[in-house]
Amino acid sequence: MKTLSDLDLHGQRVLVRVDFNVPMDGDVIADDTRIRAALATVQTIADAGGKAILMSHFGRPKNGPDPKYSLRAAADRLAELIDAPVTFTTAAIGSDELVAEVDAQPNGSVLVLENTRFYPGEEQNDDALARQMAALADIYVNDAFGSAHRAHASTEGVVKHVKVAALGPLMEKEVRSLSALLDSPERPFVGIVGGAKVSDKIGVIENLLARCDAVLIGGAMAYTFLKALGHNVGASKVEDDKLDVAKALYDGAGGKLKLPVDHVVADRFAEDAATQIVDEIPEGWMALDIGPKTVDAYREIVVDAKTVVWNGPMGVFEMKPFARGTMAVAEALVDATKSGAMTVVGGGDSVAAVAEGGYEDALTHVSTGGGAMLEFLEGKTLPGVAALL
Ligand code: ADP
Ligand code: MG
Repeated sequence: MKTLSDLDLHGQRVLVRVDFNVPMDGDVIADDTRIRAALATVQTIADAGGKAILMSHFGRPKNGPDPKYSLRAAADRLAELIDAPVTFTTAAIGSDELVAEVDAQPNGSVLVLENTRFYPGEEQNDDALARQMAALADIYVNDAFGSAHRAHASTEGVVKHVKVAALGPLMEKEVRSLSALLDSPERPFVGIVGGAKVSDKIGVIENLLARCDAVLIGGAMAYTFLKALGHNVGASKVEDDKLDVAKALYDGAGGKLKLPVDHVVADRFAEDAATQIVDEIPEGWMALDIGPKTVDAYREIVVDAKTVVWNGPMGVFEMKPFARGTMAVAEALVDATKSGAMTVVGGGDSVAAVAEGGYEDALTHVSTGGGAMLEFLEGKTLPGVAALL
């Protein structure tokens, strides 16, 4: 694996695929975490006297350039945060104008290109676009793990046409942490899978069952499993077309797959709903969190583990009365980490929950790649990573 730190960057045009796909609130950046995460990488290039050229996708523009999906706001925020001159350009990839701007770019400065998804060739992994991107670079660096599961021109195609390609620091940490999980986990190795749907995570559960000593299930998906095993699930969220799959996963797991034994149920889906804690879910009630007996049982398994990977909240953590299970699992991971376990969390909502609880720095690795991390845990090869190896 070639990484940024292996390279002499002075005077080099360093084309970096970053992840500036930030959530917006109107035309204001609602959360600049992804821009902040990229700061160290960009600063390293600028400080070494390289010319950083940044490209990223942003949102889902449908028909070419659309001001609503411009990266200008992200470039402005970067300029506020970083100690280097930042220029934003709308000059098109493949245009002489952009080549001239890059040629004129001073060492130690940063040029932010417009949204890669303004080009239809990006998602088609068009070879002509990939060549035009590569023509801007002496060195290509991919630091956008969250896009690594997509074979797009900016993540995969471009690599074929550059002389030097390397993993950026964020990408390197993701790949090292996640590879360690699947290649050489210290045991006991525990997987925790929760969240909205079984259907999203069948591949992850299968792959983890093959590798882990136990897989703990929570969140809405638990009720598809419980219904498949003949329990009453009341008005809980269930995927009726996945009952067979759930039953087969459970039966094939040889006791490794653990399900909640009690639940926080509500009479409706609301923060101020009436609630109770039950072992069997009554008719008309919906389970919105794992109960205290389940929390204790899962906690015991997690704190004894040497390796833990977690994706998917245990309940509707966005509502205070149903956040306890998710926060308790996060706390169990923190304690496991303190006793020397390697702990990895990923998934958009899971990471939001961990951040809300302030647990981020107390875990071994918090993955920024939602879909990419899930595909990795399914055992799939990520094209954006494979291209760099
Ligand atoms: P991630 O983004 O971490 O992969 P998911 O997107 O799969 O997680 O699932 C997160 C969502 O699942 C949250 O919005 C949460 O409210 C919801 N959820 C968790 N448990 C339940 C439940 N028991 N009933 C309904 N929704 C749930
Ligand atoms: Mg999600």
